[in-house]
Amino acid sequence: MEHTFARLPALLHGSAIPTPVRAPRLVVLNRPLAEALGLEPGALEGTEGAEVFSGNRLPPGAAPLAQAYAGHQFGHFTALGDGRAILLGEQVTPRGERFDIQLKGAGPTPFSRRGDGRAALGPMLREYVISEAMASLGIPTTRSLAVVATGESVWRSRELPGAVLTRVAASHLRVGTFQWVAARRDAEALRELVNYALQRHDPELAAARPECPAQALLAAVIDRQAALVAQWMAVGFVHGVMNTDNVAISGETIDYGPCAFIDSYDPATVFSSIDRHGRYAYGRQPEIMHWNLTRLAEALLPLLDPDEAKAITRAEETLDRFEPAYQAAVLAGMRQKLGLFGDDSEDVDLIRELLDWMQRRRADYTQTWSDLTAGLAIKDVRRADQDFMHWHGRWQARLSRQPQTTAEVRRLQRAANPAFVPRNHLVEAALEAAEQGDLVPLERLVQVLQSPFDHDRDAPEYRTGAPDGGEGYQTFCGT
Ligand code: AMP
Ligand code: MG
Repeated sequence: MEHTFARLPALLHGSAIPTPVRAPRLVVLNRPLAEALGLEPGALEGTEGAEVFSGNRLPPGAAPLAQAYAGHQFGHFTALGDGRAILLGEQVTPRGERFDIQLKGAGPTPFSRRGDGRAALGPMLREYVISEAMASLGIPTTRSLAVVATGESVWRSRELPGAVLTRVAASHLRVGTFQWVAARRDAEALRELVNYALQRHDPELAAARPECPAQALLAAVIDRQAALVAQWMAVGFVHGVMNTDNVAISGETIDYGPCAFIDSYDPATVFSSIDRHGRYAYGRQPEIMHWNLTRLAEALLPLLDPDEAKAITRAEETLDRFEPAYQAAVLAGMRQKLGLFGDDSEDVDLIRELLDWMQRRRADYTQTWSDLTAGLAIKDVRRADQDFMHWHGRWQARLSRQPQTTAEVRRLQRAANPAFVPRNHLVEAALEAAEQGDLVPLERLVQVLQSPFDHDRDAPEYRTGAPDGGEGYQTFCGT
């Protein structure tokens, strides 16, 4: 293991070691991920895995620490830091890629405040299922290597079985990491952090020795996040807690607390029990990401120009990249979903008309797209109302204006529209069974979600939303 983060200025970390747990038991191990990391899955099974992934035994070369960061939580600035996560170090894969290996739920740290430093089994398995589903969907994300049940209880609103999740990330640098250093007004540490982030995530940019490294980093993060949010929107993913501490510099989706996939299409969809004003609603995600990136730009101001007015101009100019980058990415994504090649000035309107129809009819988002992929929707009499027929005619006319064959159109659509996403009711049922000791539904769900674009798979029960439409489904933070 390596420890480049640990060499950053001391204000960025605190010492922390995992607190041993009573009776660790390996619940899931992600074998393909272990192999990709250059680890030996066979050696991480059973008791050995339970010991290492619970934090009871540190792997060779581990040098644990907790990272410091701040964050705007629902708009309010707070000092945070890893309150229940402990970084063991960085694993360099056989392909030369560097990943943080972190234990989440491993016990108290200097940043735990009033928290117990622990996590419950259900939410850690939830992170495992959804983060791995995102990875299979081709969406940048932190990964889940293992979940270990601790044999101890945690107390939330009730007694729950405890667990530790091993999270793998390109890094855990967040917008909030920069906010933390900026709040300390330590320009030198900020400069070091910028250079470190560039080296780690944009080595080719760093090698080009940009005149203003902070601006180069800001632009790169903006581009990554614009592309990421466009991917979330395309699959109907609601992050749920887009606080600035949950926005990764790497461009990976991070923090799978209250996230969920939409069933029926509605931009106002909110699942998180604490998001009463819909700040992080599905349709607001692009706007909120822009707000979060503005906080990053603010943190970087001292490095953008010695003259504050000039620094602000530079920040604003750089932030102006977000909107066009997001619009271009979301339009490209939606075109793929419709099997459209090239661009036609009517495309934006064509997409809008379909989404409006879905919203009016409360149509299931994933199902509608996969029906359109299979060419079924027109046969479904329930859906084929006048508006739909009108839209369908426009879509077919647009398809006929492009030279590509039906097979090419179908191929494009099949690669863009998942047949399988983590359906809320299935995730809940799998977690409930796992808490009762039955891992079969969880393992089957994980397996189906590994091939989200396998449209030929015969697994109808995984394709549809909750039988009751999923009305009122709620998710939770701080679990
Ligand atoms: P999150 O909502 O997961 O982004 O967490 C926000 C902050 O609360 C982070 O600083 C976490 O480390 C901290 N936190 C969440 N749960 C706990 C816990 N059980 N014990 C200590 N800190 C926690
Ligand atoms: Mg977080």
